[in-house]
Amino acid sequence: MKYYILFGPPGAGKGTQAGAMVETWNLCHLSTGELLRAEIAAGTPLGLQAKALIDAGNLVPDEVVEGMIESKFNSVKDVNGFLLDGFPRTTAQADALGAMLERRGESLSGVVSIMIPDAMIYDRIRHRAEIEGRADDASDAIVRNRIDTYHAKTEPLISYYRARGLYHEIDGTGTIDEVRARIFALLKTL
Ligand code: AMP
Repeated sequence: MKYYILFGPPGAGKGTQAGAMVETWNLCHLSTGELLRAEIAAGTPLGLQAKALIDAGNLVPDEVVEGMIESKFNSVKDVNGFLLDGFPRTTAQADALGAMLERRGESLSGVVSIMIPDAMIYDRIRHRAEIEGRADDASDAIVRNRIDTYHAKTEPLISYYRARGLYHEIDGTGTIDEVRARIFALLKTL
């Protein structure tokens, strides 16, 4: 089984690029943000607990997302691997993922990082807000908090995975097709 992490700041285009990747390589797309939004929409206790944190642009507790990921690893069949999108977001989550994979006798195939400058994050998220209507895209203050959270808690994962020889960065600027071509060229090597 392949285990890829799709990494990058909010608005880098992870969700947009994931569709073609999972189709071409027969992967299961696991977006913790999407899974959490589904819990909120279904009104589950977990969704209710997560909603206030998500709407404010804060992270939900590590154990919550770790549990969601592990249950998907256990239940999803008939795929060549998993594309993790928006997970891990902290070094504690990365450690937990490493332990989960070790228990399964598996290992990470690579981190595909889509990088864009902060200035472009705002433009991309404003554009997405018009299309998707996500509450956490609606205000500049909440977007600023998500970017700050990314720099403080998630960016350390770059050196974490670089030290393990698993980090691969591609330029996320340009058209969707251009970025997809860069990702596909990289994935063929991982
Ligand atoms: P995303 O769709 O990846 O932008 O995630 C939307 C929101 O869901 C984030 O701003 C967090 O509040 C929450 N979230 C998603 N993934 C995680 C994660 N791995 N750890 C903690 N919170 C998460």
